[in-house]
Amino acid sequence: MQGYIIDIKPVKDDDLIVTILTENHLYTTYRFYGARHSNINIGYKIDFELENTRANIPRLKDVIQLGFEWILDYEKMYCWQRFIKLFNPHLKDLEEVDSYYFYLLDHLTHVMIKQNALRAICETYINLLEHEGRLHTNYECLLCENTITKDISLVRSFLPVHAKCTYSKVFEMRKIKELFEEKKLISFSDEEVEYLWNIILQGL
Ligand SMILES: [Zn+2]
Repeated sequence: MQGYIIDIKPVKDDDLIVTILTENHLYTTYRFYGARHSNINIGYKIDFELENTRANIPRLKDVIQLGFEWILDYEKMYCWQRFIKLFNPHLKDLEEVDSYYFYLLDHLTHVMIKQNALRAICETYINLLEHEGRLHTNYECLLCENTITKDISLVRSFLPVHAKCTYSKVFEMRKIKELFEEKKLISFSDEEVEYLWNIILQGL
């Protein structure tokens, strides 16, 4: 099976609880410590086997790391790991998962070969919001419920608000429309992309 490691928690004796997102499942697995094991880390795509034991979670074994072209690019890897970690609380308690998420991550690993990591992640996130029916293209302010025509701000989950209703960073309406409707960030400055990234980090 193949999947992405979206969470790792250390437990006793250097053993680990490893959460893996595959095409259709979210697996919580147990990995025993041992020198012969291949190195694992958050964000890695792995090929693996599960072994059912008497414990209530399966044992993770025969792990092979499947690399990406940019796996040694420290900055890309850092952004990727922070993004993929957000899927754990987001998908928590699901056992069967829509294959959309696995393929979304697969796609992002390809896009990130050429594109800036934060821009690629922000564009991916817009697709995720749309897929989940959470992309608010009616531009109605979350706080006062009136339609926003200019000076828009975004809060968690990219929910639109009037800049004057929140006193947060102002975006030009045309830029947010470009992002929400064309899923592009071409006219956004690096600083604006960084701002969007920090919103994403609050949670998917
Ligand atoms: Zn408002």
